[in-house]
Amino acid sequence: MPGSSILETNVLVLNRFYMAIRVVNVRRAMTLLYRQCAEVIVMEQDQFVSYDFESWVELSQLSSLEKQPDEDYLQAISYELRVPRICRLTRFERMPAQTVRFNRKNLFARDDHQCQYCGQKPPTNKLSLDHVIPRSHGGQTTWENIVCCCLRCNSRKGGRTPQQARMTLLTRPAKPRFNPLLADSITDPRYESWKTFLTESAATG
Ligand SMILES: [Zn+2]
Repeated sequence: MPGSSILETNVLVLNRFYMAIRVVNVRRAMTLLYRQCAEVIVMEQDQFVSYDFESWVELSQLSSLEKQPDEDYLQAISYELRVPRICRLTRFERMPAQTVRFNRKNLFARDDHQCQYCGQKPPTNKLSLDHVIPRSHGGQTTWENIVCCCLRCNSRKGGRTPQQARMTLLTRPAKPRFNPLLADSITDPRYESWKTFLTESAATG
């Protein structure tokens, strides 16, 4: 794998309280780390262990002796530096949480392309978006009031509220704390360790 693509791999950034706030590329993560603004978090025997830059260099040298398939390395001048997957900001650095763009693609991804009324997953061209409370009833075009909906449920519901149409939502729509497309990254074994932090936030968000 060429070095440039490794530099474009993703690193999950946690705030001081171990809450995931955004995703940055390795280049940015290494800068934070080098400037002592962040530490690396690694899962070791079911526990999260933190490393500052110096100890990460040390660990990299040791672990590079027996590389694991889910680990990437950057070639530094005299040693190899293991690519972090998660880093946590220290008290010196503040970073705003990433905002998720409100658009069709992200709404579909949030709802996993699933009709939020009947639970079916039709092909995208048979999937539409529905105002839960219709606009004619004062419903807004927001994360909280728009859901994925198959064409059949959409026409069945018409301009009515779910109560009026006697239809129930599978889940209460909410603004996702992360780009819902990130869920796809978790299927990549390299980002396996993100799971804890992303599912946790999904439960609270
Ligand atoms: Zn449906």
